[in-house]
Amino acid sequence: MIFRVALCLALLVPAPAMAEKLANKLFGAMDYPSGQAAMPVGSYARGCGAGLMELKESGPTWQAMRLSRNRNFAHPEMIGFLKDLSSQAAAMGWGKGLYIGDISQPRGGPMTSGHASHQMGLDADIWWLAPTRLNLSRSERESLSSIPMRSADQKSVTGNWGPKARALLKAAASDPRVDRIFVAAAIKLEICKTAKKADRKWLQKLRPVAGHDTHFHVRLKCPKGARLCETQKPTVADLSKGGDGCDDTLAWWVTDYLNPPKPTKKKKPKEDDAPRKKGPREFTMADLPKQCKDVLASD
Ligand SMILES: [Zn+2]
Repeated sequence: MIFRVALCLALLVPAPAMAEKLANKLFGAMDYPSGQAAMPVGSYARGCGAGLMELKESGPTWQAMRLSRNRNFAHPEMIGFLKDLSSQAAAMGWGKGLYIGDISQPRGGPMTSGHASHQMGLDADIWWLAPTRLNLSRSERESLSSIPMRSADQKSVTGNWGPKARALLKAAASDPRVDRIFVAAAIKLEICKTAKKADRKWLQKLRPVAGHDTHFHVRLKCPKGARLCETQKPTVADLSKGGDGCDDTLAWWVTDYLNPPKPTKKKKPKEDDAPRKKGPREFTMADLPKQCKDVLASD
């Protein structure tokens, strides 16, 4: 009898310990990387990162911004990429290098604010503000803002756009480690309009997405041998099949996206870094690959 009463109580009143904590909170609370070998686990918008490294807050050609968010952690391949691109940026006169925004949390995973992706240490936001100084203080890195590269009506680039910005994007897109780069649609439209026939190969990697007016977002491929990392299918067929993405799905962003026609069954293009209207998706640990539990529990 006592047993039955206890059982009934257990069914009726869930103990607080049984309430599952959101993975967003668990990963958000980790302040240093896992002591494991580097391994991206899962997918860009549903995963975590083992053995991530901290991008040094300041380097010879970069500064990490918004340090209070603690999102300057990355897979070693991303650390290498950011160092290389920032030194190329400085060499091509893009200010003194790069201001680098969010990468990932120390152990990756879903976040409590901001992004759908950036979960494996293979996504990084790069500011459109070319650095004039690389000695910003912590508080300056919180208060300084980047600049808009896209007009307020979302249809064209601003006066901030120019050959140097284009060269920076091309350098990033031409890097074999890069899978795709998310940019405001207006930027891709401008490049589609002006690129010569012989200079279009890299356009396939540029993907239009909502937001992204003051930064671009670089996504790396799964590194070699990263067996727990899910490769993402290309959104656009490669150039040999005629796919540079300068097509109707791009035009959609400055037409129907801005002035939605009456609902039809036509599917709209989707990218998984589009900001969510209701804030970030909430994950439980059961929503993530099972190895993410070890990433969280590791020393
Ligand atoms: Zn991003």
